[in-house]
Amino acid sequence: MRDRRKLLIAATALFALALTGPTPGWSAGPIPVVATFSILGDMVERIGGEKVAVTMLVGPNGDAHVYQPIPEDARALSQAEILVVNGLSFEGWLDRLVEASHFAGVRVVASDGIEPIAFANHDHHDAFDPHAWQSLANALVYVDNITEALATSDPGNADFYYRNRAAYVAEIEVLEAEIRKLFAELPADRRTVVTSHDAFGYFSEAYGLHFVAPHGVSTESEASATDVAALIRQIRQEGIEAVFLESITDSRLLEQITRETGASIGGTLYSDALSGPDGPASTYLDMMRYNATTLARALSA
Ligand code: ZN
Repeated sequence: MRDRRKLLIAATALFALALTGPTPGWSAGPIPVVATFSILGDMVERIGGEKVAVTMLVGPNGDAHVYQPIPEDARALSQAEILVVNGLSFEGWLDRLVEASHFAGVRVVASDGIEPIAFANHDHHDAFDPHAWQSLANALVYVDNITEALATSDPGNADFYYRNRAAYVAEIEVLEAEIRKLFAELPADRRTVVTSHDAFGYFSEAYGLHFVAPHGVSTESEASATDVAALIRQIRQEGIEAVFLESITDSRLLEQITRETGASIGGTLYSDALSGPDGPASTYLDMMRYNATTLARALSA
């Protein structure tokens, strides 16, 4: 009788241990990692390779500003060892989800250490532009933060992660030189671009462009009639010719603006999400290259 009770206690303890989730070095399979959106997910996969199993909460073509978590998200988080987030108040819906999921792993803020750009909306208390991934220099910081987190959680494979990091960094540097060259010769009066929301602050700072948008730094805010009228005036006055749609936002407002100003649609940009696997921006590097070439082609036409 006593033995049976002991056995039951042991079985209960084992069950409880299993419920607390995977422990580093305990399970032999890939590390379960959750990334909040597709761009971070791609970076984690580049560095982690087959040693990680990545779940993206907001997938390709999804808008992370206005995301509404689903029950599967909490389930994925409850089993994750690492959660990679952008930070800079980008994922406003995340804290409640993390709490509800009883996530017990390590939370990595990919943007930690970048120089954030403040935005003009001073009555808003989150005064930093969250779209830091739109500069390749910042991507190097993201890559370092992700690599450190993987190497710390899984020290046995640290060399593997550092090797992948080195190869990735080399590609980022090549692309940075390519993009600089694309914009180097552009005259000053051909550097203003209209997009739907203010997602390209870091991009414009890096490459000397100027973006204007009817929506603010979040797709959440409605563009007011006054803002739209001011934008239309600015497009006419400055002779801005290129208006770019975004894959994650409704194009109707921008189409109306082009009709009223005679500006033309220069293409579609990928701001906050990758494209699907068959699209032109299915990886972070492809996204940066596609945006830059689309912009450069329209601006120099
Ligand atoms: Zn955005």
